Amino acid sequence: MLVDSHCHINFPELSDRLPQLLDDMRHHDVSYALAISVSRETFDEVENLANTYPNIFCSVGIHPAEKDAAEFTVAELLERTSHKRVVAIGETGLDYHWCEGDLSWQYQRFITHIEASRQSGLPLIIHTRKAGLDTLKFLREHNANCGVIHCFSEDVAFARAALDLGFYISFSGIVTFKNAKSVQEACCYVPNDRLLVETDAPYLAPVPFRGQLNQPAYVKYTAQHVATLRGQSFEEIAQITTNNFFRLFNKAQR
Ligand SMILES: [Zn+2]
Repeated sequence: MLVDSHCHINFPELSDRLPQLLDDMRHHDVSYALAISVSRETFDEVENLANTYPNIFCSVGIHPAEKDAAEFTVAELLERTSHKRVVAIGETGLDYHWCEGDLSWQYQRFITHIEASRQSGLPLIIHTRKAGLDTLKFLREHNANCGVIHCFSEDVAFARAALDLGFYISFSGIVTFKNAKSVQEACCYVPNDRLLVETDAPYLAPVPFRGQLNQPAYVKYTAQHVATLRGQSFEEIAQITTNNFFRLFNKAQR
């Protein structure tokens, strides 16, 4: 059994073919997926999916690169964390690739999400792009202590710092790319009890589907590659990452 710990199956590229995606998940032994909120509107979409399908869970949050998105207050996030299918806060974090200039709005948004995680006890889903050091600084200064670095694209030093803060590390299709040496090194460094896998579908399809539309079923190919890199069996990686998912997102019921 596998779990896709991060996907966007509500996005238009995928939402039209949902029955097919769920069928493909079954055929690849991908039993659960976590559908990620990136705005107020997409929260309603992912919550709807999670309410409809027993093997889909959802998060609540606003993506750091959604510059013009209407903000959630801490109270609004907390209200939604009480909904029964909401198991995490995010995705949140910092993004210096898509955003520049005065980023005080992005910092404030990140702090709001960290505060909601602390008050609700739900784990954070962290997106970080070209902002590694600042992301760690915010997590540290605001006492974030529970969550995952999603779609890991940093290096061993960053992984070590995130692990020290108590975070899990989730690998996407990037880890299957030939040129992703530092990500592969980090993948070998992460201990068994902190390892997760994800697709980030519809983006970043793993080899052999690189460049095509991604979908939750393909987390299997990423897990297979992770197993090879780490010198472990596929069955072991499947079991480890599934157990880790339900330990971290402990509101999600099997
Ligand atoms: Zn995402």
